[in-house]
Amino acid sequence: MAAGLRNHEGCVSNPSMNREKYSRQILFPPIGAEGQEKLLESRAVILGCGALGTAQANALTRAGVGMLRIVDRDFVEESNLQRQILFDEADARERLPKAIAAARKLNRINCEVKVEGVVEDVDNRNIEKLVSGFQVVLDATDNFEARYLLNEAAVKHGLPWVYGAVVASYGMTMTILPESTACLACLFPAAPAGAHETCDTVGVISPAVSWVAAIQVTEALKILLGRRQELHGAMLAYDIWKNQLQEIRPRKDPQCRVCGAKEFAYLNRTGPTHTSLCGRDSVQIHAAAPRQLDLADLRARLEQFGRVRANEFLLVFAVDAYELTVFSDGRAIVKGTHDPAVARSVYAKYIGA
Ligand SMILES: [Zn+2]
Repeated sequence: MAAGLRNHEGCVSNPSMNREKYSRQILFPPIGAEGQEKLLESRAVILGCGALGTAQANALTRAGVGMLRIVDRDFVEESNLQRQILFDEADARERLPKAIAAARKLNRINCEVKVEGVVEDVDNRNIEKLVSGFQVVLDATDNFEARYLLNEAAVKHGLPWVYGAVVASYGMTMTILPESTACLACLFPAAPAGAHETCDTVGVISPAVSWVAAIQVTEALKILLGRRQELHGAMLAYDIWKNQLQEIRPRKDPQCRVCGAKEFAYLNRTGPTHTSLCGRDSVQIHAAAPRQLDLADLRARLEQFGRVRANEFLLVFAVDAYELTVFSDGRAIVKGTHDPAVARSVYAKYIGA
Protein backbone atom coordinates (compact mmCIF):
# COMPACT_ATOMS: atom_id res chain seq x y z
CA MET A 1 0.00 0.00 0.00
CA ALA A 2 1.42 3.39 -0.99
CA ALA A 3 1.82 6.07 1.64
CA GLY A 4 -1.08 8.45 1.66
CA LEU A 5 -3.26 6.29 -0.55
CA ARG A 6 -6.33 6.76 1.58
CA ASN A 7 -5.59 10.26 2.75
CA HIS A 8 -8.43 12.69 2.28
CA GLU A 9 -9.21 16.22 3.33
CA GLY A 10 -5.78 16.92 4.74
CA CYS A 11 -5.56 13.68 6.67
CA VAL A 12 -1.94 12.75 7.18
CA SER A 13 -1.05 9.11 7.58
CA ASN A 14 1.39 6.57 6.28
CA PRO A 15 1.88 2.83 6.72
CA SER A 16 4.34 3.15 9.60
CA MET A 17 1.92 5.40 11.49
CA ASN A 18 -0.84 2.86 10.80
CA ARG A 19 1.22 0.23 12.55
CA GLU A 20 1.36 2.41 15.66
CA LYS A 21 -2.29 3.47 15.48
CA TYR A 22 -3.49 -0.10 15.18
CA SER A 23 -0.62 -1.78 17.04
CA ARG A 24 -2.72 -3.29 19.84
CA GLN A 25 -5.14 -5.03 17.53
CA ILE A 26 -2.31 -6.10 15.20
CA LEU A 27 -0.89 -7.90 18.27
CA PHE A 28 -4.16 -9.84 18.48
CA PRO A 29 -3.40 -12.97 16.39
CA PRO A 30 -6.76 -13.34 14.56
CA ILE A 31 -6.18 -9.85 13.11
CA GLY A 32 -2.41 -9.40 12.78
CA ALA A 33 -0.71 -7.13 10.22
CA GLU A 34 -2.37 -8.89 7.32
CA GLY A 35 -5.83 -8.60 8.83
CA GLN A 36 -5.26 -4.92 9.52
CA GLU A 37 -4.49 -4.31 5.83
CA LYS A 38 -7.69 -6.15 4.98
CA LEU A 39 -9.71 -3.96 7.35
CA LEU A 40 -8.21 -0.81 5.86
CA GLU A 41 -9.53 -1.92 2.46
CA SER A 42 -12.99 -3.00 3.68
CA ARG A 43 -16.43 -1.41 3.50
CA ALA A 44 -19.25 -1.49 6.07
CA VAL A 45 -22.62 0.24 6.18
CA ILE A 46 -24.58 1.10 9.32
CA LEU A 47 -28.33 1.64 9.06
CA GLY A 48 -29.43 3.95 11.86
CA CYS A 49 -27.26 6.26 13.91
CA GLY A 50 -28.80 6.20 17.37
CA ALA A 51 -27.38 4.33 20.35
CA LEU A 52 -26.32 1.17 18.50
CA GLY A 53 -25.19 3.01 15.38
CA THR A 54 -22.93 5.46 17.20
CA ALA A 55 -21.33 2.66 19.23
CA GLN A 56 -20.75 0.56 16.10
CA ALA A 57 -19.39 3.48 14.09
CA ASN A 58 -17.06 4.49 16.93
CA ALA A 59 -15.56 1.00 17.18
CA LEU A 60 -15.26 0.39 13.43
CA THR A 61 -13.66 3.79 12.83
CA ARG A 62 -11.09 3.23 15.58
CA ALA A 63 -10.42 -0.27 14.19
CA GLY A 64 -9.56 1.27 10.82
CA VAL A 65 -12.31 -0.06 8.56
CA GLY A 66 -11.58 1.62 5.22
CA MET A 67 -15.00 2.97 4.31
CA LEU A 68 -18.03 3.47 6.50
CA ARG A 69 -21.45 4.65 5.34
CA ILE A 70 -23.89 5.77 8.04
CA VAL A 71 -27.54 6.32 7.18
CA ASP A 72 -29.98 8.08 9.50
CA ARG A 73 -33.18 10.12 9.10
CA ASP A 74 -33.16 11.98 12.37
CA PHE A 75 -31.53 14.92 14.16
CA VAL A 76 -29.73 15.06 17.53
CA GLU A 77 -31.83 15.82 20.62
CA GLU A 78 -30.82 16.23 24.25
CA SER A 79 -32.51 12.95 25.28
CA ASN A 80 -30.09 11.09 22.97
CA LEU A 81 -26.92 12.10 24.82
CA GLN A 82 -27.22 9.57 27.66
CA ARG A 83 -26.38 6.70 25.26
CA GLN A 84 -25.55 7.96 21.75
CA ILE A 85 -21.83 8.23 22.27
CA LEU A 86 -20.75 10.31 19.27
CA PHE A 87 -22.98 13.32 20.06
CA ASP A 88 -22.59 16.25 22.42
CA GLU A 89 -24.64 19.17 23.70
CA ALA A 90 -23.61 21.45 20.83
CA ASP A 91 -24.93 18.89 18.29
CA ALA A 92 -28.28 18.87 20.11
CA ARG A 93 -28.44 22.68 20.30
CA GLU A 94 -27.74 22.93 16.56
CA ARG A 95 -30.11 20.05 15.79
CA LEU A 96 -27.56 18.55 13.47
CA PRO A 97 -28.68 15.52 11.49
CA LYS A 98 -27.25 12.49 13.29
CA ALA A 99 -25.46 11.15 10.20
CA ILE A 100 -23.67 14.50 9.77
CA ALA A 101 -22.77 14.99 13.44
CA ALA A 102 -21.45 11.41 13.59
CA ALA A 103 -19.36 11.76 10.41
CA ARG A 104 -17.76 14.97 11.73
CA LYS A 105 -16.87 13.37 15.06
CA LEU A 106 -15.53 10.19 13.43
CA ASN A 107 -13.32 12.20 11.12
CA ARG A 108 -11.65 13.69 14.21
CA ILE A 109 -11.24 10.22 15.73
CA ASN A 110 -9.58 8.62 12.70
CA CYS A 111 -9.32 10.71 9.54
CA GLU A 112 -7.98 7.76 7.61
CA VAL A 113 -11.42 6.13 7.55
CA LYS A 114 -13.64 7.46 4.79
CA VAL A 115 -16.95 8.13 6.54
CA GLU A 116 -20.03 9.01 4.54
CA GLY A 117 -23.04 10.37 6.44
CA VAL A 118 -26.31 9.98 4.54
CA VAL A 119 -29.37 11.88 5.81
CA GLU A 120 -32.19 9.71 4.49
CA ASP A 121 -34.97 7.54 5.78
CA VAL A 122 -34.30 3.93 4.79
CA ASP A 123 -37.24 2.59 2.80
CA ASN A 124 -37.99 0.16 0.00
CA ARG A 125 -37.08 2.73 -2.65
CA ASN A 126 -33.52 3.39 -1.47
CA ILE A 127 -32.33 0.43 0.60
CA GLU A 128 -30.80 -1.60 -2.24
CA LYS A 129 -28.84 1.42 -3.44
CA LEU A 130 -27.71 2.25 0.12
CA VAL A 131 -26.26 -1.20 0.86
CA SER A 132 -24.94 -2.01 -2.60
CA GLY A 133 -21.15 -2.44 -2.82
CA PHE A 134 -20.66 -3.06 0.92
CA GLN A 135 -19.38 -6.25 2.53
CA VAL A 136 -21.52 -6.16 5.67
CA VAL A 137 -24.53 -4.26 7.01
CA LEU A 138 -24.89 -3.49 10.71
CA ASP A 139 -28.44 -3.10 11.92
CA ALA A 140 -28.92 -0.08 14.14
CA THR A 141 -32.52 0.61 13.20
CA ASP A 142 -35.21 0.94 15.84
CA ASN A 143 -38.14 -1.01 14.42
CA PHE A 144 -39.03 -4.40 13.02
CA GLU A 145 -40.37 -3.08 9.75
CA ALA A 146 -36.96 -1.63 8.86
CA ARG A 147 -35.29 -4.90 9.87
CA TYR A 148 -37.59 -7.00 7.70
CA LEU A 149 -36.81 -4.65 4.83
CA LEU A 150 -33.07 -4.98 5.46
CA ASN A 151 -33.41 -8.77 5.74
CA GLU A 152 -35.09 -8.95 2.33
CA ALA A 153 -32.53 -6.70 0.65
CA ALA A 154 -29.70 -8.75 2.20
CA VAL A 155 -31.20 -12.09 1.14
CA LYS A 156 -31.88 -10.78 -2.37
CA HIS A 157 -28.26 -9.64 -2.80
CA GLY A 158 -26.51 -12.32 -0.71
CA LEU A 159 -25.19 -9.68 1.70
CA PRO A 160 -24.20 -10.55 5.31
CA TRP A 161 -25.88 -8.48 7.99
CA VAL A 162 -25.83 -8.31 11.78
CA TYR A 163 -29.15 -7.87 13.56
CA GLY A 164 -29.18 -5.99 16.84
CA ALA A 165 -31.89 -4.60 19.11
CA VAL A 166 -31.95 -3.09 22.59
CA VAL A 167 -34.66 -1.95 24.94
CA ALA A 168 -34.46 -1.26 28.67
CA SER A 169 -31.61 -3.52 29.94
CA TYR A 170 -32.21 -6.23 27.34
CA GLY A 171 -30.58 -6.77 23.96
CA MET A 172 -30.57 -9.34 21.16
CA THR A 173 -28.27 -10.01 18.25
CA MET A 174 -27.84 -12.51 15.44
CA THR A 175 -25.59 -12.68 12.40
CA ILE A 176 -27.22 -13.54 9.08
CA LEU A 177 -25.30 -15.00 6.16
CA PRO A 178 -28.08 -15.32 3.58
CA GLU A 179 -26.64 -18.33 1.78
CA SER A 180 -25.97 -20.44 4.88
CA THR A 181 -27.72 -19.31 8.08
CA ALA A 182 -31.30 -18.75 9.13
CA CYS A 183 -32.58 -15.32 8.14
CA LEU A 184 -34.55 -12.96 10.38
CA ALA A 185 -37.86 -14.18 8.93
CA CYS A 186 -36.91 -17.85 9.62
CA LEU A 187 -36.67 -16.95 13.29
CA PHE A 188 -39.44 -14.36 13.46
CA PRO A 189 -42.05 -14.97 10.73
CA ALA A 190 -43.93 -12.11 12.44
CA ALA A 191 -42.58 -9.36 14.69
CA PRO A 192 -41.92 -10.90 18.15
CA ALA A 193 -43.96 -10.07 21.23
CA GLY A 194 -42.57 -6.96 22.83
CA ALA A 195 -41.41 -5.56 19.49
CA HIS A 196 -43.74 -2.62 20.06
CA GLU A 197 -41.81 -1.66 23.17
CA THR A 198 -39.28 0.97 22.28
CA CYS A 199 -36.67 3.07 24.02
CA ASP A 200 -39.22 5.89 23.87
CA THR A 201 -41.77 3.95 25.89
CA VAL A 202 -39.80 1.80 28.35
CA GLY A 203 -36.39 3.46 28.29
CA VAL A 204 -32.92 2.03 27.79
CA ILE A 205 -29.62 1.98 29.66
CA SER A 206 -26.35 2.50 27.81
CA PRO A 207 -24.52 -0.66 29.03
CA ALA A 208 -27.19 -2.79 27.32
CA VAL A 209 -26.45 -0.90 24.10
CA SER A 210 -22.71 -1.40 24.55
CA TRP A 211 -23.18 -5.17 24.95
CA VAL A 212 -25.16 -5.58 21.72
CA ALA A 213 -22.93 -3.19 19.73
CA ALA A 214 -19.77 -4.98 20.95
CA ILE A 215 -21.03 -8.33 19.67
CA GLN A 216 -22.27 -6.84 16.39
CA VAL A 217 -18.93 -5.14 15.74
CA THR A 218 -16.96 -8.31 16.60
CA GLU A 219 -19.08 -10.29 14.15
CA ALA A 220 -18.67 -7.61 11.46
CA LEU A 221 -14.88 -7.70 11.94
CA LYS A 222 -14.87 -11.49 11.52
CA ILE A 223 -16.84 -11.13 8.28
CA LEU A 224 -14.54 -8.38 6.96
CA LEU A 225 -11.49 -10.45 7.89
CA GLY A 226 -12.86 -13.52 6.09
CA ARG A 227 -13.09 -15.53 9.33
CA ARG A 228 -16.68 -16.70 8.99
CA GLN A 229 -15.99 -20.03 10.70
CA GLU A 230 -15.50 -18.02 13.92
CA LEU A 231 -18.93 -16.35 13.91
CA HIS A 232 -20.95 -17.25 17.03
CA GLY A 233 -23.77 -18.85 15.02
CA ALA A 234 -26.49 -18.14 17.56
CA MET A 235 -29.30 -15.84 18.46
CA LEU A 236 -27.97 -14.23 21.63
CA ALA A 237 -30.15 -12.40 24.12
CA TYR A 238 -28.86 -10.85 27.29
CA ASP A 239 -30.38 -8.89 30.13
CA ILE A 240 -27.41 -6.99 31.49
CA TRP A 241 -29.28 -5.86 34.62
CA LYS A 242 -30.43 -9.36 35.62
CA ASN A 243 -27.35 -11.09 34.17
CA GLN A 244 -29.48 -13.55 32.20
CA LEU A 245 -28.06 -14.87 28.95
CA GLN A 246 -30.04 -16.94 26.45
CA GLU A 247 -28.62 -18.58 23.41
CA ILE A 248 -30.52 -20.43 20.72
CA ARG A 249 -29.28 -21.96 17.47
CA PRO A 250 -31.87 -21.03 14.85
CA ARG A 251 -32.33 -23.38 11.89
CA LYS A 252 -32.90 -22.26 8.34
CA ASP A 253 -36.60 -22.77 7.61
CA PRO A 254 -37.11 -24.33 4.14
CA GLN A 255 -40.63 -22.83 4.17
CA CYS A 256 -39.34 -19.33 4.95
CA ARG A 257 -41.11 -16.76 2.78
CA VAL A 258 -37.92 -14.70 2.43
CA CYS A 259 -34.86 -16.96 2.14
CA GLY A 260 -36.90 -19.98 0.99
CA ALA A 261 -39.59 -18.65 -1.34
CA LYS A 262 -37.76 -15.38 -2.13
CA GLU A 263 -40.94 -13.40 -1.55
CA PHE A 264 -39.89 -9.86 -0.80
CA ALA A 265 -43.10 -8.38 0.57
CA TYR A 266 -41.45 -5.37 2.25
CA LEU A 267 -39.13 -4.57 -0.67
CA ASN A 268 -41.88 -4.79 -3.26
CA ARG A 269 -44.56 -3.02 -1.29
CA THR A 270 -46.02 0.12 -2.77
CA GLY A 271 -45.59 1.89 0.49
CA PRO A 272 -47.42 4.24 2.75
CA THR A 273 -46.17 7.79 2.51
CA HIS A 274 -45.83 8.33 6.23
CA THR A 275 -44.31 6.53 9.19
CA SER A 276 -45.22 7.14 12.80
CA LEU A 277 -42.28 7.64 15.09
CA CYS A 278 -43.52 5.68 18.05
CA GLY A 279 -43.76 7.36 21.43
CA ARG A 280 -42.32 10.67 20.35
CA ASP A 281 -45.62 12.32 19.54
CA SER A 282 -44.38 12.70 15.98
CA VAL A 283 -45.25 11.58 12.47
CA GLN A 284 -42.82 11.45 9.61
CA ILE A 285 -44.03 12.66 6.22
CA HIS A 286 -42.43 11.86 2.90
CA ALA A 287 -42.85 14.08 -0.12
CA ALA A 288 -45.10 12.33 -2.64
CA ALA A 289 -42.35 12.58 -5.25
CA PRO A 290 -38.61 13.17 -4.69
CA ARG A 291 -37.79 16.84 -4.69
CA GLN A 292 -35.13 19.29 -3.63
CA LEU A 293 -36.41 22.10 -1.42
CA ASP A 294 -34.69 25.47 -1.31
CA LEU A 295 -34.52 25.83 2.49
CA ALA A 296 -33.68 29.57 2.33
CA ASP A 297 -36.77 30.22 0.19
CA LEU A 298 -38.93 28.11 2.44
CA ARG A 299 -37.60 29.90 5.51
CA ALA A 300 -38.50 33.29 4.07
CA ARG A 301 -42.01 32.07 3.24
CA LEU A 302 -42.64 30.40 6.62
CA GLU A 303 -41.40 33.28 8.77
CA GLN A 304 -44.72 35.08 8.26
CA PHE A 305 -46.55 32.21 9.99
CA GLY A 306 -44.32 31.23 12.89
CA ARG A 307 -40.84 30.91 14.35
CA VAL A 308 -38.21 29.39 12.07
CA ARG A 309 -34.71 28.14 12.87
CA ALA A 310 -32.40 26.54 10.34
CA ASN A 311 -29.00 25.06 9.72
CA GLU A 312 -27.52 24.01 6.39
CA PHE A 313 -29.31 20.64 6.47
CA LEU A 314 -32.77 21.28 7.88
CA LEU A 315 -35.28 23.85 9.04
CA VAL A 316 -37.39 23.85 12.21
CA PHE A 317 -40.74 25.65 12.01
CA ALA A 318 -43.01 26.13 15.04
CA VAL A 319 -46.64 26.93 14.37
CA ASP A 320 -49.71 26.46 16.61
CA ALA A 321 -49.14 23.27 18.63
CA TYR A 322 -46.84 21.76 16.03
CA GLU A 323 -43.18 21.77 15.26
CA LEU A 324 -42.08 20.76 11.78
CA THR A 325 -38.52 19.67 11.07
CA VAL A 326 -38.11 19.84 7.30
CA PHE A 327 -35.19 18.26 5.43
CA SER A 328 -34.03 19.48 2.03
CA ASP A 329 -35.37 16.35 0.27
CA GLY A 330 -38.90 17.33 1.30
CA ARG A 331 -39.14 14.88 4.17
CA ALA A 332 -40.52 16.28 7.42
CA ILE A 333 -41.05 15.20 11.01
CA VAL A 334 -44.23 16.74 12.42
CA LYS A 335 -44.12 16.89 16.21
CA GLY A 336 -47.27 17.48 18.23
CA THR A 337 -49.50 14.73 16.87
CA HIS A 338 -49.78 10.94 16.56
CA ASP A 339 -52.33 11.24 13.78
CA PRO A 340 -50.91 10.81 10.25
CA ALA A 341 -53.90 12.64 8.75
CA VAL A 342 -53.32 15.68 10.95
CA ALA A 343 -49.60 15.64 10.18
CA ARG A 344 -50.24 15.40 6.45
CA SER A 345 -52.61 18.33 6.52
CA VAL A 346 -50.16 20.51 8.49
CA TYR A 347 -47.46 19.51 5.99
CA ALA A 348 -49.67 20.24 2.97
CA LYS A 349 -50.67 23.63 4.37
CA TYR A 350 -47.18 24.96 4.99
CA ILE A 351 -44.74 22.93 2.90
CA GLY A 352 -46.97 21.94 -0.01
CA ALA A 353 -48.57 18.71 -1.16
ZN1 LIG B 1 -35.41 -17.26 6.15
